[in-house]
Amino acid sequence: MPQRAVTVLGAGLTGASVALELAGRGVRVTLIERDAQAFGRASLRNEGKIHLGLIYANDASLATAKLQLQGALQFSALLRRWLGPAADRLRTSTPFHYLVAKDSLLQPDRLESHYAEVERLYTEMRERTPELDYLGGTPKRLYARVDPSSLEPFVRSAHFAAAFETAELAIDTAELAAMIRGAIAGHPLIDFRPQHRVQSVTPAGEHYSVDCDTPAGPRTIESRQVVNCLWEERLRIDRSAGIEARAGWVHRLKYRVIARLPEALRRGPSVTMVLGPFGDVVVRDDGTAYLSWYPLGMRGWSHDIAPPLQWDAPCRGDVPAAQAESVTRDLLSAIDAWYPGAAQSDVLIVDAGAIVGYGSSDVDDPKSGLHDRTRVGVNSLAGYHSVDPGKLTTAPLFGRLAADRVIEAL
Ligand SMILES: Cc1cc2nc3c(=O)[nH]c(=O)nc-3n(C[C@H](O)[C@H](O)[C@H](O)COP(=O)(O)OP(=O)(O)OC[C@H]3O[C@@H](n4cnc5c(N)ncnc54)[C@H](O)[C@@H]3O)c2cc1C
Repeated sequence: MPQRAVTVLGAGLTGASVALELAGRGVRVTLIERDAQAFGRASLRNEGKIHLGLIYANDASLATAKLQLQGALQFSALLRRWLGPAADRLRTSTPFHYLVAKDSLLQPDRLESHYAEVERLYTEMRERTPELDYLGGTPKRLYARVDPSSLEPFVRSAHFAAAFETAELAIDTAELAAMIRGAIAGHPLIDFRPQHRVQSVTPAGEHYSVDCDTPAGPRTIESRQVVNCLWEERLRIDRSAGIEARAGWVHRLKYRVIARLPEALRRGPSVTMVLGPFGDVVVRDDGTAYLSWYPLGMRGWSHDIAPPLQWDAPCRGDVPAAQAESVTRDLLSAIDAWYPGAAQSDVLIVDAGAIVGYGSSDVDDPKSGLHDRTRVGVNSLAGYHSVDPGKLTTAPLFGRLAADRVIEAL
């Protein structure tokens, strides 16, 4: 059986970043994906916010904010490297306002000092490396406190203790998916293998055997190096390779709704309610919006090594009509209470994504590990590299780092 130099497992943003970086540096890559096409799971079915670190106010060490800033300020540059100038044509949402709930885990003044610290870090990073940009722009300020009533009539201001306008934006993940799929298909050094479900990776002397189920039966791919970018299946496959994860992981199943907003809301602000188990409205310039409400959209919690099988269908976009109706009804009526008119939206998509994190309690607990997103990155052991990107924001950054590790080892 011919041995391959590098096999990358999983074609979400992390795996695609590793594959495109390696291929761009002349390395032949085999890219394995269980679905018929790339980029159909968490990287597609998320909010698309490219985090500046503002939301992670409950990590007082600022480590999470710093990591998100590093990812955000290299996000576009790395995509440009792999996709060319098309990366700059990615459409963004209207800027986010942060609306402080009256029962926020942190009070407005405490949040404001976190935002000031994040802005200080941002300014320092840009002074050190002036070519850094945030989605093609270089905002001077990251936030300003505003009167919540300035957001009327879009938002019922009486619900909120304070409001901040910010420079934060979200991308349209479907648009990024189309660009990444095209780049993978068009690269002569990437051998894309769809419909290959990885079952195990076994070290065998100087190489690794990657065992997959395919429609044509089981296949084994022998490879000198393996990069595991499987997100919610990453820990299961690490275990098969003899690498045990640090204790404390949790998988959460979170639903989202994509809808066409009523005419009157199409110029509305994107908003994130902080800080705790709340939600978001992300307004895009094509009149559609991403809508989420955590207490009702979060419908699965598991400490198993991989999420339950029942999560698979919603995570590939296959939600039974009754479930889609229940999610829509719950989310839209909860959001309509403070973003009036949202319930009149025309629903286009209801689906879900698995979120991988570390924590034993939920985000309403100020001590929850979920407020700290720094237990992520690239873990390498000989020719085996396991990549936890933590967020979409940091997936290109860690994808690039994993590719560097592979090149060092080659
Ligand atoms: C609802 C939701 C909202 C989020 N919002 C944000 C946000 O606003 N901003 C942000 O920065 N991050 C956000 N995230 C997190 C972000 O989506 C993830 O961190 C990121 O997309 C992970 O990328 P990935 O490539 O590692 O995983 P994925 O995109 O899931 O890619 C993994 C790939 O591996 C494949 N795969 C899995 N198992 C196997 C197997 N056994 N064999 C073969 N292939 C397999 C999958 O099909 C998939 O294509 C959110 C996540 C969710 C779920």
